[in-house]
Amino acid sequence: MDLRPAEVTSILKKEIESYQGDTSMQSVGTVLSVGDGVARVYGLEDCMMNELLEFSGGVRGVALNLEEDNVGCVLLGSATEVSEGDEVRATGRIISVPTGDSLLGRVVNALGDPLDGRGPLGVGDDDFLPIEQPAPSVVERQPVTEPLQTGIKAIDAMIPIGRGQRELIIGDRQTGKTALIIDSIISQKTTGGGDPSNPEQVLCIYVAVAQKQSTVVDLVRRLEAAGAMTYTIVVTASAIDEASMQYLSCYAGATMGERFRDEGRHVVIFYDDLYKQALAYRQVMLLLRRPPGREAFPGDVFNLHSRLLERAAKLADNAPQINPRYKAGGGSMTALPVVETQEGDVSAYIPTNVISITDGQIFLEANLFNSGVRPAVNAGISVSRVGGAAQIPAMKKSAGGLRINLAQYRELQAFAQFGSDLDKATQATLTRGEKLVEILKQGQYAPVPVEEQVMMIHAGTSGSLDEVPTVRVGEFERAFLAHMRDAQPEVGQGILESGLLSDEAKATVQEAVGAVRAQLGM
Ligand code: ATP
Ligand code: MG
Repeated sequence: MDLRPAEVTSILKKEIESYQGDTSMQSVGTVLSVGDGVARVYGLEDCMMNELLEFSGGVRGVALNLEEDNVGCVLLGSATEVSEGDEVRATGRIISVPTGDSLLGRVVNALGDPLDGRGPLGVGDDDFLPIEQPAPSVVERQPVTEPLQTGIKAIDAMIPIGRGQRELIIGDRQTGKTALIIDSIISQKTTGGGDPSNPEQVLCIYVAVAQKQSTVVDLVRRLEAAGAMTYTIVVTASAIDEASMQYLSCYAGATMGERFRDEGRHVVIFYDDLYKQALAYRQVMLLLRRPPGREAFPGDVFNLHSRLLERAAKLADNAPQINPRYKAGGGSMTALPVVETQEGDVSAYIPTNVISITDGQIFLEANLFNSGVRPAVNAGISVSRVGGAAQIPAMKKSAGGLRINLAQYRELQAFAQFGSDLDKATQATLTRGEKLVEILKQGQYAPVPVEEQVMMIHAGTSGSLDEVPTVRVGEFERAFLAHMRDAQPEVGQGILESGLLSDEAKATVQEAVGAVRAQLGM
């Protein structure tokens, strides 16, 4: 037979041309090697960074290392279900999680799969958003102006936090870091009565990274008991989950929060904690054979935290006009990350990184905690770089005296230990300091509303409690606040409405202090 190459070529070309229209390209690769939670895959030429991959065994993975001849990916499920030679499908989408109202009250994992046994989430395809989204740009933000009340006297008075701020909670293990978070979540109930459909309600997201399951269960129970779970999402990647899930959980939580922020709502997100997240990231990166740097962390561990925390923001009112991604302006996402330190060492690698990214830190000290000062906030080295602008004037005024008095107290405390004769002024400063330290102590699960904080701190800084025995300050506080709530609610209302503590209100408070002291015989 006579073969005419030119003819054959043209026929083949035509065939191919007509074929292109109806093929949906889907890249499929094969597993080259698998182990330690990572797999190398051959044949995924168009794979994207952070793309979700599906293994034939049903396990999912994320592409992280795009190399010339293979793709390094971390598995988001059990490595035992993946074997060499398995087929791998690229999904063509960046790893995404469900978002929206239906997540409120739920406990989910880093991929948004429910873990609370209360059935599917009931979300649509549109509700899935990528876990890595760009942070709002400079023009899309505005300065922090509204307070975020944590209900913890030591924080709201001295280290105030504003909506959209990033404030680090840092301290050794077992110093009450998680306790601060639980109380802050409970305290948000005052914003909208705990009704998530109320636009005033501040929504909460708690991301538990590499925590014991029992700790998370306990936390959820606490929130439920306080009626705080209705407006809270718990994202958890516990200690038994894969390291990949542990480090991704923070981004998943951030995406869920951003959805609300972009709709004009207020959200506060807690990452508990970023030190464990960095450890999980280090593990994954070492297994992927990325070069280790300081303390064997990969070179981009700073970016790991900065790109996460940058997503917290107070949006500008005109943000929707600048970027159609925002449905409404003025929403905010406040981030309160936790970092655990070893032996109080705040100058270690991860703590210094996160301190430099955040707008201040709340330092919890083991010594204070053990000596019974709880919450163990060290007011000397804790700061809030922007929150003061968001504090209500009444609080600013009464708490101004608080910081100075406490600083003087700490300075003199060292001398007082020598037991030498002290002059009258020194004695007075020490007495005042003692009462103030006592006032700032607070039990768990009992956040104090801001107006009550103002009245109590005013009573302390004005000196009306100097003669009350230190051990009875707590007793006085309970009686005094109960009296103000029941007998004179208009004072608290006034502070809330005007933001000021008027001279008239001050006089009423002083009178009430006297009455309660007389009643208790102190
Ligand atoms: P970890 O490092 O294990 O995560 P943590 O720093 O989160 O610990 P918590 O678990 O919050 O610490 O608290 C440690 C213990 O101290 C808990 O038993 C808690 O009940 C107790 N605690 C925390 N805050 C207070 C407080 N204000 N008053 C009394 N007890 C408290
Ligand atoms: Mg904790």
